[in-house]
Amino acid sequence: MRNFTCTSCGNEVFFENLTCLQCDHAVGFDPARSKMVALEAAEDSSWRAIGAGEPSGLVCYCDNYQYDVCNWLRPAGAPSGLCLACGLNRTIPNLAEPGSLTAWRNLELAKKRLIYSLSRFRLPMDGSKWNKGRLAFDFVRNATTGHLNGVITVDITEADTVERVRQREYFGESYRSLLGHLRHESGHFYWTILVEASGHLDGFRAVFGDERQDYGAALANYHINGPAVDWQNQFITAYASSHPWEDWAETWALYLHIVDGVDTANAEAHRLRAAGMVPPAPGGAKSGFDAYRATRVDTLIDRWLPLMVAMNSLCRSMGHEDFYSFVIPPPVDAKLAFVHRMVRKFAAQPAG
Ligand SMILES: [Zn+2]
Ligand SMILES: [Zn+2]
Ligand SMILES: [Zn+2]
Repeated sequence: MRNFTCTSCGNEVFFENLTCLQCDHAVGFDPARSKMVALEAAEDSSWRAIGAGEPSGLVCYCDNYQYDVCNWLRPAGAPSGLCLACGLNRTIPNLAEPGSLTAWRNLELAKKRLIYSLSRFRLPMDGSKWNKGRLAFDFVRNATTGHLNGVITVDITEADTVERVRQREYFGESYRSLLGHLRHESGHFYWTILVEASGHLDGFRAVFGDERQDYGAALANYHINGPAVDWQNQFITAYASSHPWEDWAETWALYLHIVDGVDTANAEAHRLRAAGMVPPAPGGAKSGFDAYRATRVDTLIDRWLPLMVAMNSLCRSMGHEDFYSFVIPPPVDAKLAFVHRMVRKFAAQPAG
């Protein structure tokens, strides 16, 4: 994710902020332009963006601002009171139940990062043009986390940190995170559009295997017998070995981790350079690299691997366990390359 700056004073603001800590202006995220903007109050609970070149139209915070779960903006007078991301919610937790609001807040933080990435890739969130579903979210208690026709269901107990850590240990998934879940589940939706509806099933099967094998039986087999003994040589996670659809979704999640991680590192490198911790870029030029528009997947992986080594070293020097220790075996390189090709092909299509 890029670094954001306050459009009023130029200080850094984070994606989740509601105010600028330097100039005290209210700030919000404008999804139409993927940027944070400083705001001044106008009439009727609407706001006007401030800063050079900012549009003069009035904006409002999303209705979920009142619960302190959303800082996204929408045009004043828009038919929906919800922002682009909250408008995708089909079910939200029952806020009368203890702990629901905190869980929802955690889910929204993760979901907003997912929606941000999908927007940067310019991926559609409505698949009806291809006779597929629309991306939507059901955040409910005591449900099975999963995906069906665009609807991503998340059991809100996943958003409870203690419960998530318990499950993380139980399932041996040391990198379990809400954002990871959402990225994985979104992969199932994008498979239907980027692969199935776009005529790439043969290419998919050549890399991931035949998805027509019985899905229910494959998952049952995985849960009873565990992964194939040599899964590390072919899959990014044990679970990816359960069925080609799960392999795609796990690879998709990894791909989104890589692109967003590289994007963030690229943004942070400027700060480290300013602090004298990294030598200046050759010629002092600011890198114009955009991880979300990288032409070659190798460019991303070549940046990702040293970044993970550095992150792991930093974690060890702070007395923590490794940040991320997935080794990418050659077959997974080929799978990442396939995911990358599908995203690039799609992004290259004319809009509309
Ligand atoms: Zn400011
Ligand atoms: Zn919202
Ligand atoms: Zn899945």
